[in-house]
Amino acid sequence: MLSTMQDVPLTVTRILTHGMTIHGKSQVTTWTGEPEPHRRSFAEIGRRASQLAHALRDELGVDGDQRVATLMWNNSEHVEAYLAIPSMGAVLHTLNLRLPAEQLVWIVNHADDKVVLVNGSLLPLLAPLLHRLPSVEHVVVSGPGDRSALDGVAPRVHEYEELIAGRPVSYAWPELDERQAAAMCYTSGTTGDPKGVVYSHRSIYLHSMQVNMAESMGLTDKDTTLVVVPQFHVNAWGLPHATFMTGVNMLMPDRFLQPAPLADMIEKERPTHAAAVPTIWQGLLAEVTAKPRDLSSMASVTIGGAACPPSLMEAYDKLGVRLCHAWGMTETSPLGTMSNPPAGLTEEQEWPYRITQGRFPAGVEARLTGPGGESLPWDGESAGELEVRGNWIAGAYYGGADGEDLRPEDKFSEDGWLKTGDVGVISADGYLTLTDRAKDVIKSGGEWISSVGLENAIMAHPDVAEAAVVAVPDEKWGERPLATVVLKEGATADYAALRTFLAQSVAKWQLPERWTIVPAVPKTSVGKFDKKVIRRQYADGELDVTQL
Ligand code: AMP
Repeated sequence: MLSTMQDVPLTVTRILTHGMTIHGKSQVTTWTGEPEPHRRSFAEIGRRASQLAHALRDELGVDGDQRVATLMWNNSEHVEAYLAIPSMGAVLHTLNLRLPAEQLVWIVNHADDKVVLVNGSLLPLLAPLLHRLPSVEHVVVSGPGDRSALDGVAPRVHEYEELIAGRPVSYAWPELDERQAAAMCYTSGTTGDPKGVVYSHRSIYLHSMQVNMAESMGLTDKDTTLVVVPQFHVNAWGLPHATFMTGVNMLMPDRFLQPAPLADMIEKERPTHAAAVPTIWQGLLAEVTAKPRDLSSMASVTIGGAACPPSLMEAYDKLGVRLCHAWGMTETSPLGTMSNPPAGLTEEQEWPYRITQGRFPAGVEARLTGPGGESLPWDGESAGELEVRGNWIAGAYYGGADGEDLRPEDKFSEDGWLKTGDVGVISADGYLTLTDRAKDVIKSGGEWISSVGLENAIMAHPDVAEAAVVAVPDEKWGERPLATVVLKEGATADYAALRTFLAQSVAKWQLPERWTIVPAVPKTSVGKFDKKVIRRQYADGELDVTQL
């Protein structure tokens, strides 16, 4: 028997029309570096999204599921693009502005982008590449920045504001199939070519509902979220969509991502929530330690994208800011887990839950697979590769050219689950603790050492700002850990002191013999420790390593 219920498609269009009417007064505030930030209501953004759709279709000829790319910071025009492009049936392709030029060229060509919306301040990045991007017919520039870099380049150039001005403020949005592509994002591609993940209207809609649940971020129209995580990185963790569903105000940092302006905007605009990777919170902590600011408005912060060191969580607890750990990937939209502790616990009992990556929502099923492909129990001890499936999890990659493997066997199991490449344990009550990336785990004499475990223990030392641990070849043990450490300004701890400190919390056989102090840990385009760079630096003898 079939149900008697209506079958209304789950679309970004619905998110847009709902947000601009029911929550029309909510605001997107964009930091400008001027005394006053720029403010635009959801109603206004909705109207301008219609104007943008008209401009793209009527003036630039965007049709069907053509790709419209963005090379933009987090700002209100980028939100307009997020809503207009999928709603008109086209596909939004967010470009990561921190990628090396070669990868950007590869990605734009692979996705066959027809239009690029770009912030003026990013023209020096885009303009020199345009002659290698044959599919790009139009460039649309918004916001401040010198336009002269575009002089004489091939595609037609438009000013965003001029292009949308005077066009109708409503649009006859088409009826879309909810399984249709809405947006795409390429993985950061630490190995091989980047891989395109294509989100559907349905996956975005369901993911947004999950982000809004109290067991996840649980925000309402009384909240303001500071969206530091870039819109080019997994749709800013789904926040622009989720907020339009519930009227949460957004505070957008634009290009002002350094610790000092972030601290200033928190003090002035008083967001109640924020989302960013650990390196941002490390930087902000150092900033407010040196020059105190009032962060007390931020009741909760979602932190993920890389492991959150417990010491960082403790430091923010002292400032009255509660960090909530989350795990996800480009392939998982990204919300995979969040570490809200179970009910009925004291603060002290909550702690061991808070430092896990968190538990899975109903939309994400998980299993652990051992090295021989065996299924491992959820006992908090058996470590294996995490595999997931669910309504907002990728089942394949985007591909065009012949011979491209869109379901590589190292990424998808035979029965269709996503192999995350993350290694960890799951407790009997469903909390995930990641111990490593499969490729980062240190295999020493037949035992596994968790690089993340060592990093967290080293970062708990008061003199340490950051620490990254990688596996390096060792004649006797196969691999051993190399600890690279960034000291806080003025700190004096030496290797022996660090090792003695580490010995208090780590088994003796796991203690690194090789140590090096570095000015900064190399980071990937999305702000994570770039361990392959450290491994290469070590192999090339570029690091000044002390052996204890
Ligand atoms: P990306 O697709 O660039 O967002 O990278 C996803 C990867 O980031 C995951 O597979 C994990 O290795 C890592 N990651 C994300 N969140 C966390 C977290 N909370 N703890 C540890 N690693 C994380």
